[in-house]
Amino acid sequence: VGRVADAARTVATHCPYCALQCGMELSVTPRPGLERPDVRLSPTDFPTNRGGLCAKGWSAADLLTHPDRLTAPLVRTIPGDRSSPLRPATWDEALDAVAEAVRATQRRYGRDAVGCFGGGGLTNEKAYLLGKFARTVLRTRSIDYNGRWCMSSAAAASTRTFGIDRGLPFPVADLALADVLLLVGANPAETMPPLMQHLEAGRERGAQHVVVDPRLTATARTARVHLQPRPGTDAALANGLLHLVVRRGWVDEEYVAARTVEFEAVRESVTGYWPDRVERITGVPAADLEAVAELLGTASTAMVITARGAEQHASGTATAQAFINLALALGLPGRPGSGYGTLTGQGNGQGGREHGQKADQLPGYRKITDLADRAHVAGVWGVDPTRLPGPGVSATEMLRALGTPGGVRTLLLLASNVTVSAPDAGSVTDRVDALDFLMVADLFLSESAARADVVLPVSMWAEEEGTMTNLEGRVLRRRRALDPPPGVRTDLDVLAGVADRLGHGHLMTTDAATAFDELGRASAGGVADYGGITYDRIEDEQGVFWPCTDADDPGTPRLFGRRFAHPDGLARFTRAEFREPAERTDPEFPYVLTTGRLMRQYQSGTQTRRVAALAGDEVGPDGTVLPHAELHPDLARRCGVVDGEPVQLRTRRGVAVFRARLTTGIRTDTVFVPFHWSGESRANTLTHDALDPVSRMPAFKACAVAVGPIPVP
Ligand code: SF4
Repeated sequence: VGRVADAARTVATHCPYCALQCGMELSVTPRPGLERPDVRLSPTDFPTNRGGLCAKGWSAADLLTHPDRLTAPLVRTIPGDRSSPLRPATWDEALDAVAEAVRATQRRYGRDAVGCFGGGGLTNEKAYLLGKFARTVLRTRSIDYNGRWCMSSAAAASTRTFGIDRGLPFPVADLALADVLLLVGANPAETMPPLMQHLEAGRERGAQHVVVDPRLTATARTARVHLQPRPGTDAALANGLLHLVVRRGWVDEEYVAARTVEFEAVRESVTGYWPDRVERITGVPAADLEAVAELLGTASTAMVITARGAEQHASGTATAQAFINLALALGLPGRPGSGYGTLTGQGNGQGGREHGQKADQLPGYRKITDLADRAHVAGVWGVDPTRLPGPGVSATEMLRALGTPGGVRTLLLLASNVTVSAPDAGSVTDRVDALDFLMVADLFLSESAARADVVLPVSMWAEEEGTMTNLEGRVLRRRRALDPPPGVRTDLDVLAGVADRLGHGHLMTTDAATAFDELGRASAGGVADYGGITYDRIEDEQGVFWPCTDADDPGTPRLFGRRFAHPDGLARFTRAEFREPAERTDPEFPYVLTTGRLMRQYQSGTQTRRVAALAGDEVGPDGTVLPHAELHPDLARRCGVVDGEPVQLRTRRGVAVFRARLTTGIRTDTVFVPFHWSGESRANTLTHDALDPVSRMPAFKACAVAVGPIPVP
């Protein structure tokens, strides 16, 4: 890898964090005598953020020179003994150890005993090459990634309905065009604040916004109507709305007849969702349900948007489906200023799921079980399609089986911190410790990396080239503005280095542009077709929306205008019955726990917890970190919990401690905790790993919890 020119420069790129991928400019100034240059950032007037950034974006450059950066590979002092200390090693020594572990494991237990676990923060090029590495170098079925825990329910429902899964099938600016916006389980005012300007533009035109959330969030405060259902009951709410839309004659019958199939079964399935029954299930007053149905049913333009609050359940696919059914019955998808969409969370949550990191998919959303799809991709890769492995199991199922007979024995973990972010994280940590061998490639010594046999230090967003696909399906360029610290390599170097040692180096590349070109050919003709997208076009056109089939194709900012992506062009309704959350409350665990994000933190906090400017009031006067649990004063009184004091939360999986923050904005039966911290405040110690039958999404957003003060020893 060549070095970046040793002169002051300005580089246009995008934020390293969430899926809004705000545009920013990096001003890099060399510092005489110092290895690392000075890096300043400022927002750009990109269409998604229009000059805005959140606190995470503003502080993104702080991490480039953070003293915790890993700058040398680490291996165990006593190889094979993970209780022995980590020590610095050369890249050759570390990569040799990884390759030897892969060889030994596959020799002893078979190919599938080596697994790859990726992340929704990886660039498209990395996600693509990780999938190729698993299928061609390791020839393992065992690959999945943390995006399974992010978008998979809405993705499954969208694919089933529309034949395509693109988070927003329209640009974010279109959010301003909807006269009525139903936002379900989404809190962009906290999770992606610059997006709110598009909502504000709508409200300034007189748009009516409805927010569905068990908490009075920053987003809910801006809405005309706030509905507060019990966590995990959104499908009943959606079916109740559709029931009213049907009964009041607001179905767009012409649209349904011309553009959809299977509505009658859904129409019949919602007959039992009377408002009073929905009120009993959800806690949302029937009158409010009627009012929202009328808003939606009589609007000229309307959008239904879901996010993780609705989707991260053991019935997440059915819940997303119920809201899609509502949108279809109203005739919204494909109409200007209207539609259904979902707000993707992770930086490359969209692109990360398109190019083969998922256990059942090949690049371009091709199916690994489809013979024609296998033949196409194998042709691009220059391998025999019959030698490509079949589908593997989902992320949670892979982790549950680590170190067991038939499970993965050697795990290669990139861009993910599973011992903090996985559901029932205590059990996952035990499984990680049962592995024969763990390799982690990361920026910092994350909680998962600290348990590894080999840790590989990899470059950060501003130190490498690549592309990201944002929540709109817009492919963006991430630019290299400065060199990584000496001793640091890219994830592509890691994959190529291991492949080389296994005798398959010719299948990999360390050059992002070469990888993107190959990705374009592998995805061409698929659902997520990048065939016509080039680095130059991305730069010239402020990003390119997929599908984009060739150089003459302008890309597709808006989908579904004339037809849906199924061969017959029609959308499919599917029945979506409400099911109670996987874990019900009972006298021992009488309340509902739900989890979510804070504005100043990102995912498992590996990066943002290290930024002083993002510390917030979770840091106590004595420097100890204790994040807040939100609960209602009535619940606190019942449980003997005092505002500002520690509160202990206990589920069937474990115990965690937070600082109580009392608020009347949350339901009286619900406790909210952020999931960014580890140690005694690791929220996922508490969460449930029951899986959605279709998407394999775990039940992050609802489980039964007991609440109390810290017991006196
Ligand atoms: Fe970065 Fe997302 Fe914040 Fe924008 S909203 S600055 S992309 S974290």
